[in-house]
Amino acid sequence: MDYRVRISPRSRRVRLNLSARDGLTIVVPRGFDARRIPGIVETRKGWIEKHLRRFSEAARFTAGNPPDILPEQIDLPALGETWHIAYRSTGAQEVVEVKAVEPGELVVSGAVDDPAACRSVLKRWLRRRAAERLAPLLARLAEENGFRYDRVTIRSQKTRWGSCSARKTISLNCHLLFLPPDVVRYVLLHELCHTVFMNHSDKFWLLLDGFEPDGKAMRRRMRAGWKDLRAWL
Ligand SMILES: [Zn+2]
Repeated sequence: MDYRVRISPRSRRVRLNLSARDGLTIVVPRGFDARRIPGIVETRKGWIEKHLRRFSEAARFTAGNPPDILPEQIDLPALGETWHIAYRSTGAQEVVEVKAVEPGELVVSGAVDDPAACRSVLKRWLRRRAAERLAPLLARLAEENGFRYDRVTIRSQKTRWGSCSARKTISLNCHLLFLPPDVVRYVLLHELCHTVFMNHSDKFWLLLDGFEPDGKAMRRRMRAGWKDLRAWL
C-alpha cells in the first residue's frame, strides 16, 4: 500500500490522513520509530481501502453523485475559496468534528466511517462560513446604499436564496456561497429592496434595477445556481 509519512512536531500520536488529492499520509510525532508504521497501516487496512475506494468512485462521478460520496474539496465561488478536506479516523470516538487547520484546509475527524455524520458537520461548517462572510457583506451593502434591516439569519433552504420578513429580518441561504460574487450581490440587494417594498411591485423592481440593470440575466443565473448544488448537501 502506498503512503507518505509526515513528521508533525505538534502531534503526540499517530494519525492516518486520507484525501483524494494526497492519498494516504501517516502523520507521526517527532522521534517516532518508523519501523512501527507498516504494522499500523496493516491493522487499519480495511478502513483505508474502503475510503480509497470511495475516493476513486467519487472521481468517476461528475454529476448525480450518490449521496454517500463525501466531497474531497469544496469550492465557494462567492468567496473565491477552495477548501480541501482530509478525513481522519480517530479510533473509538463516536462524534465527528470539522476544523479549519489552515485557510483552505479542512479536517473532518472522528467517526468518519459514517457519511451522514460527516455530511452533517460539513453542512454546519458551510452555514458558519456563510455567517462569517455573508453577514458582513449584507451589512456593507446596506450601509453603502442606505438600507436598514433588523437582523440577518443564515439558513439552508431548498427553494429560495433569501427572504425578508415584515420585521426586516433577512434570511440568507448558505448555498449562496456556491454562486458567483455578482449573483450573490444581486440576491442580497433583492432582499434589501424588500426592506423598502414588501412585495414584487413595479416600484420594487424599479428600485432593484437601479442597482443591476441586467436583472433578467442575474435571475437566470440564480435559477441555474440550483443545479450546481452538490450531492453531499
Ligand atoms: Zn423577493
